[in-house]
Amino acid sequence: MNKTLKQLHEELKSGAILVEDLVSSYIKVIDEKDKEVHALLGMYSDGLISSQINKAKEMFKSGTDTILTGIPVVLKDNILVKGEHATGASKILENYVATYDATVVKKLKDAGAILIGRANMDEFAMGGSTENSAYGVTKNPHDTTKVSGGSSGGSAAVVAYGGVPVSLGSDTGGSIRQPASFCGVVGLKTTYGNVSRYGVMAMGSSLDQIGPFGNSVGDVEEIYKIISGYDTLDSTSLNEEERKVKNGDFKKVIGVPMDFISRDGIDKEVLNNFSESLEKLKGIGYTIKDISIPNLEKALSVYYVLMPAEVSSNLARYDGIRFGLSNPGDTSIRSYFESRTAGFGSEVRRRILLGTYVLSSGYYDAYYNKANLVRDMLIKEFTKVFNEVDVIATPTSPVPAFTIGEKSQDPLSMYLADIFTVPANIVGVPAISVPSGKTENGLPLGIQFIASLNREDILFTTGRDFEKLY
Ligand code: GLN
Repeated sequence: MNKTLKQLHEELKSGAILVEDLVSSYIKVIDEKDKEVHALLGMYSDGLISSQINKAKEMFKSGTDTILTGIPVVLKDNILVKGEHATGASKILENYVATYDATVVKKLKDAGAILIGRANMDEFAMGGSTENSAYGVTKNPHDTTKVSGGSSGGSAAVVAYGGVPVSLGSDTGGSIRQPASFCGVVGLKTTYGNVSRYGVMAMGSSLDQIGPFGNSVGDVEEIYKIISGYDTLDSTSLNEEERKVKNGDFKKVIGVPMDFISRDGIDKEVLNNFSESLEKLKGIGYTIKDISIPNLEKALSVYYVLMPAEVSSNLARYDGIRFGLSNPGDTSIRSYFESRTAGFGSEVRRRILLGTYVLSSGYYDAYYNKANLVRDMLIKEFTKVFNEVDVIATPTSPVPAFTIGEKSQDPLSMYLADIFTVPANIVGVPAISVPSGKTENGLPLGIQFIASLNREDILFTTGRDFEKLY
């Protein structure tokens, strides 16, 4: 049984365990397990780790400790830590060293956390299996022939095998929730604007959010409290007034878009597990209501137009001049070609091409603008549904963790696996994945709860009630 953050905190505070011993004991697990799983791309420098340990000890001494003081944390490798490598799992940033701290990093450091290592991911967070990492796949700790999910596969796997109690990932279309469900841990995507994106490599800026992984809903809530908050350095950050906007009381009503869920392509065990989970929730006083969200079907298409459009403009900065890899050519145009061709993997190139296409004149109205219109319709439909229900539930993923290599040559089938997770990003609402049992072969499954804007509190209450059932 994994210890909760509260238990670890008490042990550190009482002196039952020393900060340096706790950190070493986790690093020992990483040394043992990561050879096989490959959740991490590297550890932070000894200098950073030891200065954080000293700071944590000071905080305990002076009584300024927080629940995270002395706790080892791993960060997805698209989050910047000053003076440390950050690659986004891309060749183009192989030797890049960050020049400043992301806001979430500053908050974690201020809380006394011990940042220890960088988690593997799909290149620039594009993918659902970590197979798109330029540095090799992260295997699923429950079955190393399977993927860990993605794009934050490393962050999920390292928590799952006990290498750290908590980690951070990013979620643009499901990249926290899907690997959380594949690896049997809890993962939270917050309301858009709740956690600062400053210092995180941008993928789809209108969709990206950073969020935590942990062994329990309670642990994830603790991290959420520390990393969220208004930030003047992120123009999309919600201010205090905007954060107060909340809908009514919590009545334990869960909406389920059953038509949308029972579809071709959904795994039988996933569907059975989901129905069983709903029954269990009924058993503890939740009401389950069938709901209809007419345009929900279109969320995936909207995502695969808007996201590449944003990717193509965000990745223009990797030009071989300002950051990382630089392969000079005869002319400046040739230099761009050489550097980007050598630096980007095929999925990243595919998305840049798709994005450039949907933004080009003649197609802009047909694809990009239309996708934005459908996005507006979806926001309205979700708002309406949240007048009737507190939470929407779906399976997190239509399939359990798949075999390494099974989908990597078939991007479309990989994209289809995002069907249940992308709507929350399109609409900007918070969503959590909580473990809901295992398949016959022992692979973890997860249930997703989605709440309305700023109602993370509802996700925590429902999630906590739910996790007691398994
Ligand atoms: N699997 C999705 C994609 O490939 C989600 C990625 C993410 O959330 N970063 O786009």
